[in-house]
Amino acid sequence: MIFIFGLPIVYTMKKEEKRCCQMCNENLVGRIDKKFCDDQCRVMFHNRVRNERVPDLKTISAALRKNRLILEDFRKTQSRTQRKIQRTDLIQKGYNFTYFTHHVSVNHFGVFDVSLIKENQEEYSILYSTSTPH
Ligand SMILES: [Zn+2]
Repeated sequence: MIFIFGLPIVYTMKKEEKRCCQMCNENLVGRIDKKFCDDQCRVMFHNRVRNERVPDLKTISAALRKNRLILEDFRKTQSRTQRKIQRTDLIQKGYNFTYFTHHVSVNHFGVFDVSLIKENQEEYSILYSTSTPH
């Protein structure tokens, strides 16, 4: 036993913690800094992390095109340059509010050449680019 300033210092052996593969959760044996059981698990783990971080561009692109088509459909069925539409109508047509191409202001979102302005919780206005024929 070791004494420092007259107080006994008790060393306790830290029980070796069970280490598991970060991918498949199998017990790990070997080096203390080992994180994966093999290269396959290491590659799978890093692919999974990368896929979680980078959104699927095809999905985003498809959602943006669909949003643009939905807004275009509203233009075809209405005649004014600025139109008010209900949020429920947009949702019913499959509009995805998560995706827009640019942000004009807090409640003003662009989808390519069309803008969607949130007037209130239920109502939106659509602004079409002035260069777009009506
Ligand atoms: Zn593994």
